[in-house]
Amino acid sequence: MIQGLCHICGKPAMHVCSICGNAACDEHYVANLRACTKCASKGRDRKREIPDELTPKRFRV
Ligand SMILES: [Zn+2]
Ligand SMILES: [Zn+2]
Repeated sequence: MIQGLCHICGKPAMHVCSICGNAACDEHYVANLRACTKCASKGRDRKREIPDELTPKRFRV
């Protein structure tokens, strides 16, 4: 099922990042983390902490 267009490359996306709530295609989605590559690299870069304020935007329509 297509969720929308990948917010990174613009291709049809089959996944939704659980962190930023944006659609992500296979290439830009990390299944292990259920996150797009942007969020995945962010999280891995420095600390592995996840801010409390992190709320998925996907419920906001
Ligand atoms: Zn993509
Ligand atoms: Zn993301």
